[in-house]
Amino acid sequence: MFPVELLNSEASAANLLEQVRWRDGLYCPRCRSESVIKHGSYRQYQRYLCKDCDRTFNPKTGTIFAHAKIGLDKLFFAFYTLLRFNTSIRQLDAELDVSYRSLRRRVEQFARTLDAPAIDLVGPVEIDEVYVTAGLKGRERDRESRSRGLSKRGRGSYAEDKPPVFTLVDRGSDQRYVVPAKSADESTVRLLLGDREEESLTVYTDGFRAYDPLEDDENFQREAVIHGEGEYVDEDTHVNTCESHASLARRWLSPHRGVSKDKLTPYLRAFQLRRRIFRKPGREALKEIVRTVL
Ligand SMILES: [Zn+2]
Repeated sequence: MFPVELLNSEASAANLLEQVRWRDGLYCPRCRSESVIKHGSYRQYQRYLCKDCDRTFNPKTGTIFAHAKIGLDKLFFAFYTLLRFNTSIRQLDAELDVSYRSLRRRVEQFARTLDAPAIDLVGPVEIDEVYVTAGLKGRERDRESRSRGLSKRGRGSYAEDKPPVFTLVDRGSDQRYVVPAKSADESTVRLLLGDREEESLTVYTDGFRAYDPLEDDENFQREAVIHGEGEYVDEDTHVNTCESHASLARRWLSPHRGVSKDKLTPYLRAFQLRRRIFRKPGREALKEIVRTVL
């Protein structure tokens, strides 16, 4: 259910921000003192005075929502709609009647605030790589070469504006990760799979050579699917879940046609957040979105 009651005025949005930000009690964002008192208001926002550092603050102080020209209700609407419905920023701009440039800047700032996923693999794990055609927006001569999402046609590199994006599916924990990389090589693969201190990790891959060194490493049990060689495929040995997850990521990127390579990481982190809130009721989803960027 769309949480319309939380988004119908700046005052309701301000209220929500207070609830989420100070869910464990009110404190001064500057010195963390809990010795704070109400001190008038700033527009729709309650203002507080810290008795320790003698400075005032409001719920937006020190967050990405501070100094925004766009109202908090509109920003929450934008982030919520973007994540839930995979809306383009152009469409949001039409709904909200705000400046497209400042909205895009706020959305990108929002996405940059999202943390990198902590990859903690239980195993077995599927790993696969795809390539995104993503140059530097505005600097390309050929508009047609802009991103059409993720493709697996040919290997690419970050320098050639075709950065690799790795998809990991942990069958043990049912976690999925989509991580852009500078290059699709052995060291990237090792970084993603991490150090194994206890049991070895079963890893399903395709026949790409960057996975070959895993064969000689006792920390890993590599099972490769060799596409197109007509070989017998064990029913567990596949990277199909990676492929379908990569196709969801492709759909996620598609309304933002031409996501440049330097913005790929934040956009794909937003995709991870989208998955995390996917099945939550509207109110809970919105609260989680706000909590994530505080
Ligand atoms: Zn203080």
